[in-house]
Amino acid sequence: MDPLTDLLNRRGIEEHAKALISEAKRHNTNLFLALIDLDYFKNINDTYGHSTGDEVLRHFAAIAKDEFRQEDSIGRFGGEEFLVFIKGVDKEEGMNILSRFRERISKTSIASEKNESVQFTCSIGATSLSEHDKELDDLVRRADKALYMIKENGRNQLLFLR
Ligand code: GH3
Ligand code: MG
Ligand code: MG
Repeated sequence: MDPLTDLLNRRGIEEHAKALISEAKRHNTNLFLALIDLDYFKNINDTYGHSTGDEVLRHFAAIAKDEFRQEDSIGRFGGEEFLVFIKGVDKEEGMNILSRFRERISKTSIASEKNESVQFTCSIGATSLSEHDKELDDLVRRADKALYMIKENGRNQLLFLR
């Protein structure tokens, strides 16, 4: 587990991914994946301080736990990067769930140490398991590419790559 957010850490989510991918392949069910990266997070640290940055990460994680279902797997994949697996949904349903999440994050604010209002947004690269995918890396590569395209094109967006 990741002590800051109380989500699965990278190793934890990688282990879950293995099980989810083999299960989806065995039963021929949908598996949707999102790679979520906080926007301009370095700015948040620089402007409000590292502990406010930590608070943003904790708050983000709490909203994710609230918004996704118990059976979805959420993990902290890197510093300000998160991975979410949504089981048994098609592209449209997955995108609806993520779109609602992205919007909720963008409407959230927390108080800094000096009691300033801190807002933050996230960018979401999404994809789903295809028959050619063998392992987590195959999915993450597409989601990461989507994320890269969003960052080039603004931020605070959601993009699916097949
Ligand atoms: P972009 O919108 O392109 O994603 O920009 P960014 O600033 O979010 O991305 P960048 O990769 O430049 O910076 C990520 C920052 O996240 C740098 C690092 O100091 C910070 N960070 C990573 N882990 C933690 C943490 O646990 N706590 C805090 N407060 N900051 C962290
Ligand atoms: Mg990042
Ligand atoms: Mg970032």
